[in-house]
Amino acid sequence: MSDQQHGGTDDRAEEVRRSVPGDGASARVSLIGLGRMGTPMAARLLAAGVAVTGFDLSSEARGRVALLGADTVTTVEDAVRHAETVILMLPDSAAVEAVLRNEQVRVLLRRGATVIDMSSSEPARTRALAAELEAGDVVLIDAPVSGGVKGATAGTLTIMAGGPDDVVERLTPMLSAMGTVRHAGPVGAGHAVKALNNLLSATHLLATCEVISAARRFDLDVDRVLDIVNGSSGRSWSSEYKWPSFTRPATYDSGFDLRLMLKDVQIAVDLLTLHGDERALAESALATWSRAARELPEGADHTEIARWVEDAEGSAP
Ligand code: NAD
Repeated sequence: MSDQQHGGTDDRAEEVRRSVPGDGASARVSLIGLGRMGTPMAARLLAAGVAVTGFDLSSEARGRVALLGADTVTTVEDAVRHAETVILMLPDSAAVEAVLRNEQVRVLLRRGATVIDMSSSEPARTRALAAELEAGDVVLIDAPVSGGVKGATAGTLTIMAGGPDDVVERLTPMLSAMGTVRHAGPVGAGHAVKALNNLLSATHLLATCEVISAARRFDLDVDRVLDIVNGSSGRSWSSEYKWPSFTRPATYDSGFDLRLMLKDVQIAVDLLTLHGDERALAESALATWSRAARELPEGADHTEIARWVEDAEGSAP
C-alpha cells in the first residue's frame, strides 16, 4: 500500500473517531445486542478504530465479541453508564423498550447522549421512545439496516437513518464503518422504510418460491429457469442472490430468522392498512409467512420458506 493510501486510511479512521464523542482516539460506542448482526457490526467498528463496549444477555455472544477485541460488560446498566453513544441491535421493539424503559438505564443515560436503534423496530414505538428520551436530553435516532450478515461482515449495509439532519450528519462517518447511510427522514422514518423494504423482499422471495415450484412441476430445469429470470424482468434480490446462495444448495443459512422476517412483514402491513385500507397482496403475503412460521421449527432461517412452499405442495426442493 502506498504512503498516500496509508494517509487516506488514517484520515478516514480519524474522521470515524471524530464522529463519536470521546477524547480523541478513545472514541467509544456501547453496542447492545451481539447476535448474528451485532457481532460483525462490532468487528467493523473495531476495525475502524472505534472502541466497543459490548453487552448481550447471552454470555456466549459476549465471549464471541470479546475475542474480536471489544470490552464486554455483564449488565445493561454497565453498558450505558458514562456512554455517549449507544447502539442497539436487538430483535424487535419489545427488546428495545426493555432496555430503554429500564429505570436504571434511564437514570444512567447521560444528558447529551445519543442512542441509535439499528434493530428493525416499529416506527410508532420508536417515535414514542424518542419523545420520552428527549425529556432527559437524550437523542434517539433509528438506523436499521439491509444487506444481511454478509453486508454486516463486509461493511456494505444500507443504513436507513431516521432523525434530525445534524445528528445523522454527525454520526455518518462512524456509521459508514458499517455501510452506506441513507437519510430517510425524521425519527421513525428509517424503521418505516426498513419494514416496507422487507415487505417487498419477503413478497419477492415468496413469489420466486412459488414460481420455481411451478417450473419444477412442469419438468423445467430449475437452474436454467433462474438463469433466464435473472436476465429478465422478473429478477429480484431473491432470484439473483438468495435462491442461488441458500436455497439451491439447500443450506438455508442466510442468518436471518424467518420469525424476524415475519415481524417486519407485520410492521409493514400495519403501515399499509393504517387507514383501514385493504391491501390484498401484502395481507396474503403476511398470512402465508405466518403459516410458515407456525409450521417450521423454532430458529428456521427465512430462506426455508422455499422448502415449506415445496412441502406444502408435496415434494422436496
Ligand atoms: P439475533 O437473534 O441473532 O441477535 C439478537 C441478539 O439480541 C441476541 O444475541 C440476543 O441474546 C440479544 N438480546 C435480546 N434481548 C436483549 C436484551 N434485552 N438485552 C441485551 N441483549 C438482548 O438477531 P439478528 O439477526 O442479529 O437481528 C438483529 C436485528 O437486526 C433484528 O431487528 C433483525 O430484524 C434485524 N436485521 C437482521 C438481519 C439478518 O440478516 N440477520 C438483516 C437486517 C436486519
